[in-house]
Amino acid sequence: MMEQVVPYFAFRDFPEGMTVETEQALLAAVRSNNYILGDAIAAFEHEFAKATGTRYSIGVGNGYDALVLSLKALGIGAGDEVILPANTFIATANAVVQVGARPVFADVDKHTYNLTAATAEAVISTKTKAIIAVHLYGQACEMEPLMTLATKYKLQLVEDFAQAHGATYAGQTVGSFGSINATSFYPTKNLGAFGDAGAVVTSDAALAEFVSIYRNYGQQQKYHNKIIGVNSRLDELQAAILQVKLKYLDQLNSERQRLAKVYLQELQSINALVLPYTAESCTHVYHIFSIRTKYRNELQAWLTEKGIATAIHYPVPVHLQQAYTYLGHKPGDFPVVEELAQTSLSLPLFPGMQEAEQQAVIRSIKSFFAHLHG
Ligand SMILES: *Cc1c(COP(=O)(O)O)cnc(C)c1O
Repeated sequence: MMEQVVPYFAFRDFPEGMTVETEQALLAAVRSNNYILGDAIAAFEHEFAKATGTRYSIGVGNGYDALVLSLKALGIGAGDEVILPANTFIATANAVVQVGARPVFADVDKHTYNLTAATAEAVISTKTKAIIAVHLYGQACEMEPLMTLATKYKLQLVEDFAQAHGATYAGQTVGSFGSINATSFYPTKNLGAFGDAGAVVTSDAALAEFVSIYRNYGQQQKYHNKIIGVNSRLDELQAAILQVKLKYLDQLNSERQRLAKVYLQELQSINALVLPYTAESCTHVYHIFSIRTKYRNELQAWLTEKGIATAIHYPVPVHLQQAYTYLGHKPGDFPVVEELAQTSLSLPLFPGMQEAEQQAVIRSIKSFFAHLHG
């Protein structure tokens, strides 16, 4: 019986009034008649750099381009290897391939689901040039050991913080640890635009200069091209929206954390469930609330029948994707990542989610396990 339909994600007016404010900002940007690299972008870039504790932020077309441009800025290309977790959204790996380098996958920690210094060190070779730390599901990676590792082997550290805007490690915001770091403002991310958008952040003036020129055809000034670049400019209308939403990022993240706490408390008594674990020194902004159980498929079917939508992040690890068969991986190469793929289930969690909706999810999960054991 469907007691309450619960979407996996929905855009709600949270905090109340934000929708109208974004619509007004959008209208103002439309009426500015200045659509490419205008004032809204400059203002947003300034504010986003401040929010991430970096000196420069460069708005680009999407999160994928942000990764590609970050790797390009570091001079990574053919013959180089880049280490990344096998448990990530495909964009991280594709960006490495795009610059001509070889993606080298690493397993993840079985508690945090993140790349660690230990799992990364296991796959370092003489060709390794960089490590991409993906702050998966919204939890910051344990950065200090990763930075020590990068220094020891003279590697570049790049953060992919597309899922973790505002998360911190040792009180410091993600996006400020690596030499150059990439994020996405895909609409459902914790900081989301009304379309595709992304940003690169860095405190290195030369890297920032490269990205800001490269994203705009390599133009130093109009019709004077220093390098052969691409077109990956952040859209002015998206920047206007992001300026509004950035002001509310802490509130949006707090609401996600409040909802997560309710799930953690209400589901802790179910022994067959593994709930998200947050490492000491790290914060989690719950872009994704992923639980684990060996009854994952049955639980998902049960919830679907009750009208509750869920998702799986990610059903096929990157190293086992058809697109990556050329790397020659086989099942068993990354046991933790593979187990995650088989047992993970992401529950509905988004700012503005109603108490009745969350209670319906909790009730249905409890009834599933009660039936299982009854
Ligand atoms: C969303 C996401 C990206 C890519 O962002 P797009 O803006 O969709 O290109 C990259 N990495 C991770 C971890 C993501 O979650």
